[in-house]
Amino acid sequence: MRLFLALMPPPVLRRRLGELADRAHARLGGRRVPDDSLHLTLAFLGEVPQAQGEALARWLETREIPAGEWRLDAWGAFRRPGIVWVGSRAPDRALAELQAALWNELEQQGIAGRPSRFIPHVTLLRRVPRLERAKPSPPDLVWPYRRVALLRSFTDRDRARYQILARSPLA
Ligand code: ATP
Ligand code: MG
Repeated sequence: MRLFLALMPPPVLRRRLGELADRAHARLGGRRVPDDSLHLTLAFLGEVPQAQGEALARWLETREIPAGEWRLDAWGAFRRPGIVWVGSRAPDRALAELQAALWNELEQQGIAGRPSRFIPHVTLLRRVPRLERAKPSPPDLVWPYRRVALLRSFTDRDRARYQILARSPLA
């Protein structure tokens, strides 16, 4: 199964992110990420055998994380895949520490693939045909978080769908 760890936005923020996605989509086209798929990836695990996926779910269910607030104040893009995202201008220390701590524990459980860089971002559009230089006014959103989700990603009719397998206890 294809797995990743992510923060899922609370409903109010999900709607605000969806509005940003609509505005960006009207300007740039591409594929808008549906509201229920909006997320912040903390660790992409890739393909994992089912038994190990189940063990990871049991691990996460007892793994409390420190609660935090992530400020989203910048637009960004990954040019080659044509991705448009929102994130933060300055590195977020709490998220970087959370990502590092989770990867330490994933590696202890035999998961490889820790990235050399971590750019926290929420993808709003994919496959944007032409990225512009001009950026609209920066977003100003706050994302309060208290738990991490383990998600399975699968493709359904040419669209990526995510299923929550487990969540950490509420901080
Ligand atoms: P699709 O790949 O079908 O366009 P998707 O990217 O939403 O859809 P996945 O590829 O399963 O679905 O990715 C799940 C999450 O993990 C996304 O946040 C994605 O950006 C991230 N991700 C995927 N591949 C990697 C990778 N090689 N390194 C880091 N993060 C990744
Ligand atoms: Mg992908």
